[in-house]
This record gives sequence, structure tokens and C-alpha cells, in this order.
Amino acid sequence: MRRKFIAGNWKMHNGPAATKEFLNKFAAELKASPETGKNIESGAEEIAFFVPAVSLLTAVQESSGMPVIIGAENCHWELKGAFTGETSVPMITEIGATHTLVGHSERRHIFRETDEELNKKMHTAVDGTLIAVLCVGETLEEREAGKAFDVIKRQFGEGLKGFDAATAAEKIIIAYEPVWAIGTGKTASVDDAEEVCRFIRGLAKETFGAETAEKLIILYGGSVKPENTAGIMAQPDIDGVLVGGASLKPEVFIEIVKNAI
Ligand code: PEP
Repeated sequence: MRRKFIAGNWKMHNGPAATKEFLNKFAAELKASPETGKNIESGAEEIAFFVPAVSLLTAVQESSGMPVIIGAENCHWELKGAFTGETSVPMITEIGATHTLVGHSERRHIFRETDEELNKKMHTAVDGTLIAVLCVGETLEEREAGKAFDVIKRQFGEGLKGFDAATAAEKIIIAYEPVWAIGTGKTASVDDAEEVCRFIRGLAKETFGAETAEKLIILYGGSVKPENTAGIMAQPDIDGVLVGGASLKPEVFIEIVKNAI
């Protein structure tokens, strides 16, 4: 059985003070739902927050003793150097964060990060003991041109170049996030989401073998909210959700977590 992975991506929201307030409220929400807490503690389910670099330390400190994972939203592929404004993997691990997103669509499209750069980030993150969540997804234009599967195949193949099967199974998570569904209120239909996630599992099988494909955690992201979570999570190849906007309010995010179980 693959574990469920329910993650929030805060993007450029929540500085240290707001992070502290959020996590204190979320702790209270968890306390009020002991069933949810039990699931997380048993390892059947993981909850993660990907937070801005300036809030990582506060998030790690404030979540101490809580069954939540703290991750970075981005990292650099070099360990140190003249890269003004960037955050290195050793800095992230020194703080105590354990995960990082790589290649979120906003990084790919606004900051023009390439597959080659993202592959370097994946290797640096994993070599530095982080679990890396590689985000893949097509734009509306690519979907309408019938190129969605080609795009996913390229992003998956290039992003995971040079990894072996054991590393892929243990240290890598894939998030399928169609760009046209992020922050737009348009969720992919559960059938469309499942179709692409099944395709990704097939790519994992071709690349790493059946055992790794079975173990690989695959998330869906794009306008996930409490009302659509259960339907998405019922799909056989979707193991979790990556949530943007609806992860910013503890009382909303806890509903997503509850509906995901
Ligand atoms: C995201 O930022 O990864 C995301 C899926 O955003 P939203 O849930 O707001 O669409």
C-alpha cells in the first residue's frame, strides 16, 4: 500500500509570523480530529507544507512534535556560490526541512527553468538527503494541441535522468499539475487526472521497472478543494494532492486532509 501524501504549497504567502499563526491553528485542528492524527502517526498518511525560504526555520520550529513535514518550494543545483537570492540544499537541510518541490509550473513558466536545470536540482536535492517532488504538467495550449502526453513524457524523462530505481522509489515523488488548472478554479476531471497519473506510472514502469512504479507516490494538483478531494483520492493511481490556494487556511486544509483519508 502506498502512503497518502497531502501537501500544501504556500507559494509567496506566509512570512514567519503568519507561519507561526497557521501552524498553531493547524495543531488545534489536528487535535480536534484525533482520527486524522492517528492515521498520520501510523505512517498511512503524510501531511506536508512547502513554505517560503524565509519561513522554513519558523515552520520547522513551530511544527516540532506535530506529524507534519516541512519542505522548501525550490532549491538551487549548486551547493554554494555566487547565486544571489537563491537557497541551497545544504541550507534547507541545515534548517531541518526534509523535502523540496522542483519544477513547479510557476518556476518553469515564470522563471523559465529548463528540464536540464530541474534535473540538476533533482540530483542535488536527493544527494543532499531531501525528498524531491518533481512537478510536471502541460499548458492549455499543449493540451488543446494534443501534446499533453508528450510534454509529460519529456518532463518526466528529462527530470529523472540519471536516477536508479531504488532512489526513484524512495526519494522521489511526482506531482501532476496541469498548468491550466493551477489557481484558476478549473480542476481537471477525475478521469483526466487519473489518465495522466496512470500514464506517469506507466512511464515509471518503463524507466525503472514494475516494483518501483508500484511504490512511486504520484500527486495531483490544480484547484484542489475540500469538495473535490475525495473524488480525486479515489483514483487508483493518485496517491495524494498538492494544494495551493486552499492550503492557506488551516480550517480549509484540515478538511482536505480529512476528505483524503
Ligand atoms: C499549486 O500551486 O501547486 C496549486 C495546485 O495551486 P492551486 O491549488 O491554487 O490551483
